[in-house]
Amino acid sequence: MGNIEEVIVVGGGIGGLAAAYGIGKLGKKVTVIEQAPAFGEVGAGLQLGPNGLRALDALGVLDEVYQHAVFPRRHVFMDALSGKELSSVQFGEAFEKTFGYPYIVIHRSDLHSVLLKACEKLNNIRFLTNHRLESVEEFDDYVELRCENGATLKGKLVIGADGIRSVVRQKLINRNSKPVPARYVAYRFTVPMSEMTINIDWDEKLTWIGPGIHLVQYPVRHKSVINQVAVFESQNYNEENDDWGTIDELYDMFKDCCPTVKESIKFAERGFVSKLHDINPLEKWSTKRVTLLGDSAHAMLQYLAQGACQALEDTVCLVEKLKEHEADLAKALDEYQKERIPRASQVQRGARMWGKIKHAKEDHARLLRDTIMLNRTPDDYTYLEWLYKDRKLASV
Ligand SMILES: Cc1cc2nc3c(=O)[nH]c(=O)nc-3n(C[C@H](O)[C@H](O)[C@H](O)COP(=O)(O)OP(=O)(O)OC[C@H]3O[C@@H](n4cnc5c(N)ncnc54)[C@H](O)[C@@H]3O)c2cc1C
Repeated sequence: MGNIEEVIVVGGGIGGLAAAYGIGKLGKKVTVIEQAPAFGEVGAGLQLGPNGLRALDALGVLDEVYQHAVFPRRHVFMDALSGKELSSVQFGEAFEKTFGYPYIVIHRSDLHSVLLKACEKLNNIRFLTNHRLESVEEFDDYVELRCENGATLKGKLVIGADGIRSVVRQKLINRNSKPVPARYVAYRFTVPMSEMTINIDWDEKLTWIGPGIHLVQYPVRHKSVINQVAVFESQNYNEENDDWGTIDELYDMFKDCCPTVKESIKFAERGFVSKLHDINPLEKWSTKRVTLLGDSAHAMLQYLAQGACQALEDTVCLVEKLKEHEADLAKALDEYQKERIPRASQVQRGARMWGKIKHAKEDHARLLRDTIMLNRTPDDYTYLEWLYKDRKLASV
């Protein structure tokens, strides 16, 4: 029958590496297969809220992560057109007291390499690059994975952490779970601080919102680099080809913005473009020997900055369940999906809703949103509790 691996993780992104590390720490032998020739992340920033940090703490890597993090003082919401402040969330003492952890921003590669280094320190995790999974088949005693390079692997437990276009999900869990286009486009670009000409307090994280657009800005890498994400609704979206969401369209969508926003997006051409998609919440993640984790399970729009945080929450839950039901893998995977599906689905739906709120176009919707924003105080965390509080305490 050939060698059967104990655990195979498909995909070496943030979710896959976190899972490999957490399960590796249980003493199990883990093989991570990755389609790319090397492990890595895209050159952009990532925000991690208290729930993501709680998970990193449970994994035991939080101190290393903090060494690469920037701790913004506030999250400020600005009107992209008028340039006026609408609202802010105060981080710091009151925030940490409420949620147990701060709010950080970090370069993706830095988080990814903390996780990779942690995995490498364990001697029971092996990595196979250039292994693109093509098909997956489950039998009573094992799961068979076939890769594009001709390799066949067998595993007792397979974790599909292979992202939004997950082969594991689409071949084994739900054939109809195709990515759903949002018709929005994100330009992600980082700019050395020395090149930034605008007058901004870089101790803060800024979100500029406007009709069908937004721009996020925050510093990473000890404030030497500013991470920016410009997002807009494409007016030229079509299903047939990829010829939409161009840089000219971006400039056109941002043309009525205040001078600071216009000055900031002039660097967008340097960035890379993501056509935004999510998936509809799934009813099932697991079979007897296979489960999903991260974007493969619950790819979401980025408007709550939660995709990676949810992948980390998944990891902690999965590790807990594998430990608790060591002798009954099917039960562990079932308990994992029972706990995680409601939570992750809520965040997926919440992200769609907050996207609509941020990008509101109608005057009445903007008036209502702005009135609520202007009337809340920076230490009013009402809207964040469901997301950031300890999942065992949170009323979700
Ligand atoms: C613009 C934008 C901003 C975001 N900002 C935030 C944020 O601030 N905070 C936050 O928490 N989240 C954020 N997210 C979401 C976050 O990036 C993702 O949720 C997270 O990276 C998902 O990690 P993952 O490991 O599940 O999947 P991925 O990062 O997609 O990793 C999947 C891995 O699997 C590999 N793979 C894929 N298919 C195969 C195959 N067939 N065989 C072998 N390997 C395969 C890929 O090469 C990749 O390495 C943002 C997303 C976007 C688009």
